[in-house]
Amino acid sequence: MLVWEDEVRSTPAIAPVAMTPPSDTAARSVAATNASPVSRPAATAHTRRVNVADKRIINGQTDVNQLVPFKYKWAWEKYLATCANHWMPQEVNMSRDIALWKDPNGLTEDERRIVKRNLGFFVTADSLAANNIVLGTYRHITAPECRQFLLRQAFEEAIHTHAYQYIVESLGLDEGEIFNAYHEVAAIRDKDEFLIPFIDAIMDPAFSTGTPEADQTLLKSLIVFACLMEGLFFYVGFTQILALGRQNKMTGAAEQYQYILRDESMHCNFGIDLINQIKLENPQLWTPAFKAEIRALFERAVELEYRYAEDTMPRGVLGMNASMFKGYLRYIANRRATQIGLEALFPNEENPFPWMSEMIDLKKERNFFETRVIDYQSGGALSWD
Ligand code: FE
Repeated sequence: MLVWEDEVRSTPAIAPVAMTPPSDTAARSVAATNASPVSRPAATAHTRRVNVADKRIINGQTDVNQLVPFKYKWAWEKYLATCANHWMPQEVNMSRDIALWKDPNGLTEDERRIVKRNLGFFVTADSLAANNIVLGTYRHITAPECRQFLLRQAFEEAIHTHAYQYIVESLGLDEGEIFNAYHEVAAIRDKDEFLIPFIDAIMDPAFSTGTPEADQTLLKSLIVFACLMEGLFFYVGFTQILALGRQNKMTGAAEQYQYILRDESMHCNFGIDLINQIKLENPQLWTPAFKAEIRALFERAVELEYRYAEDTMPRGVLGMNASMFKGYLRYIANRRATQIGLEALFPNEENPFPWMSEMIDLKKERNFFETRVIDYQSGGALSWD
């Protein structure tokens, strides 16, 4: 039986840390500390050596500039794993894709629609994810191990945007059409409009954590990004392009999507570990009302992604159709929900695309589509003339 790669990699257990809710005074002092992007510990404590037991994912009072001593080893290990997966878009040869795209009989209209819709969503989606990390999440996270992962993640989002741009340029697509799709195609716009309030809330310069309401706002934003953006909104698109690749079509694009899927599955797992650790350190945030709110967001996200599936596949194509994605999205949503400790929303859903699990696992066959060439200029080859 196939397992998801992220199942193998997800952190098995995180030691619970007893926490007492902050008093009003403590909350104010935490809020003041977090007001600066390079938050320093309170004046009375900043010369003290970091005690590992005092480190916290949010509202920590220890020096964020000191990575070591490690407390959150899982975050450091994920950082190392993402670095080991490094790749660059120009390593992938696009010549077969270009020839196929230019051949009037190379692809059907429905297949071309899938490629264009995919790029229309993804060319801006990873910029949105990067901005959310850099301008939103990063300053609110007080564990330096987690900040280290977020720095790497932000760069990977840049590589993904680069990859989509590289595909658009290679195929000679209309850049105006593709890069504006998130304004002009309703099924794409609706997904982004769902996400934007959760970025805006934590990007607001006046926003800081340290009260139960503010901490829930941050937690909600982390859940939306890890479980619903990277963990759900990417999956119709990934499945479609990888299905093309399986039929030996657009193999360069499919290979890039495969690397991106591997990165994104890591982002999603890191986000889930982060969420679960925040829950352990701040159990008071996980109220019945909060859980109900999160469940409603899951339901809405499944609806939006299903509409996107319908828009991208008005008819059956590549042995798939929109209604198969209804089951797939429910299956993924169940998985994400249970990963953060919620009950499955749609019990007994089966995975209609078990081959996707194989695609996520690149360890067995790194060069699945065999298009990868390493012909970019590496640091060691730079000429200083
Ligand atoms: Fe990501």
